[in-house]
Amino acid sequence: MKPMYINGQWITSSDGETIDVYNPATEEVIDTVPNGSPEDAVKAIEAANVAFEEWRWVTALERSEMLQEAARKFRDNFDEIVDLLTLEEGKARPENEEEGEWTIGTLDYYAGLARNSRGRVLPPAERSQFNFVIKEPYGVAACIVPFNYPLLLMIWKVAPALAAGNTVIIKPSDHTPLTTLRLAKIVFDHFPPGVVNVLTGRGDRVGDVLVEHPDVPVIAFTGSTAIGQRIAALAAKRVKRLHLELGGKDPFVIAPDADVETAVEAVAYAALLNAGQVCTSTERVYVPQEMGDTFAGAMVDFVRSLRLGPGLEPTTDMGPLAAPGYRDKVAGHVADAVEKGAKVLTGGKIPAKFERGWYYEPTVLVNVNHSMKCMREETFGPTIPIMTYRTFDEAIKLANDSDYGLGAVVRTNDARLAKRFFEEVQAGTVWINDPLTDNYAGPFGGMKMSGNARELGEEGLESFLETKHVHWDFSDEVKDYWYPY
Ligand code: NAD
Repeated sequence: MKPMYINGQWITSSDGETIDVYNPATEEVIDTVPNGSPEDAVKAIEAANVAFEEWRWVTALERSEMLQEAARKFRDNFDEIVDLLTLEEGKARPENEEEGEWTIGTLDYYAGLARNSRGRVLPPAERSQFNFVIKEPYGVAACIVPFNYPLLLMIWKVAPALAAGNTVIIKPSDHTPLTTLRLAKIVFDHFPPGVVNVLTGRGDRVGDVLVEHPDVPVIAFTGSTAIGQRIAALAAKRVKRLHLELGGKDPFVIAPDADVETAVEAVAYAALLNAGQVCTSTERVYVPQEMGDTFAGAMVDFVRSLRLGPGLEPTTDMGPLAAPGYRDKVAGHVADAVEKGAKVLTGGKIPAKFERGWYYEPTVLVNVNHSMKCMREETFGPTIPIMTYRTFDEAIKLANDSDYGLGAVVRTNDARLAKRFFEEVQAGTVWINDPLTDNYAGPFGGMKMSGNARELGEEGLESFLETKHVHWDFSDEVKDYWYPY
């Protein structure tokens, strides 16, 4: 059993409940963690709140050095962390190495930005006044994280929150808490007790306490739109600061000028990375009508060449899904599409070659339309539904015909089409030609039902800073605008 980390102590759940953590490639239990109780959540909030009283006055330079120290410790233990991440999350090890590198990079980026965070001086409205804006930490930040990128999505919150002077309670996913607990032990252990806490437990046991407690002024949540909506409704009671990174249904438009072979590989990467369990996975593909058959045929050939297996096997391109429920959802979307007239060109089933593990074959679907779940709801699995379009106007309309607006991709070297795409498509991130790349300095987040947050970049730091305007008057005179009139 791996205990959870609250106030610098390693503790079990107050009522002794535990959660099993599985290896999705073998369906075996790797370890167990405490199923935190509502009382444990309160304990974490109290600890983080007490720690904040000191932490908020630690200088930005010291906070920056501590974040850099965390980055160094991560680097020193890189292989061990990445192996554990691969075991509990399931994706291919190279993808977890990437996640590790990006986690270190994010620590490093916010260590730098922490020292540059600043307010501003304003021209005063009164001759005798000096006006300025300062930025302050909120206090305790609840950082609620999903399973698919347990470290990256955690650090996108925790690094800026700490840099800004907040204390944090990390609530990892029940599927992937082990790596986060390991980080508490070997990467965050130099932070004062209570500054970084890891509260494990089912979302429905500890979630409401974190969201409703008056001493948690800011909630940074990444996860499904359904849970995000619940959190938003509860948090509204206290008008809390809420950063929601939610689901997606990203379109990928292939323009008529695109090279088919390269476009196929770009789409396969964007759709199948982490077995399609990326919030910005390509989930809808639009190709020009005249290119449809060639594109689909080449996609089938390419997808069949990919090797499924456990993430730790060096030959693995794609791992299993994280839990059986996620696989059932993918199978449900494929069944719904087939029922409504779609054709499965390859995949569409659980691969026969594995006796265990939550694998699902990468699946290429054609004859799809927007009445199908696979084109409307988030699938979060290895599916590539391909739909044809006649004009670029139609492609843009189809891309925007979604409740979601997280990311969008276009492949084109026609500048006029690219410009139309990034101006007209409703998405928080637009990739032209190279999908799913990140940049620490640039904000990431969604439009529409994909949420309201922006993580990374200066916006990511701003999310954890309260703004205060100070009016400072230097005259001792009674003002002529005071009473009596
Ligand atoms: P999820 O919504 O099931 O869980 C996310 C986190 O919320 C987990 O830690 C979970 O334990 C917790 N939780 C569950 N119930 C809660 C409650 N009532 N109150 C508070 N917390 C609660 O999501 P998931 O299945 O782990 O992850 C997949 C989802 O995350 C997908 O929808 C995906 O698009 C989304 N996602 C979004 C982004 C983004 O940046 N927009 C990035 C990655 C994943």
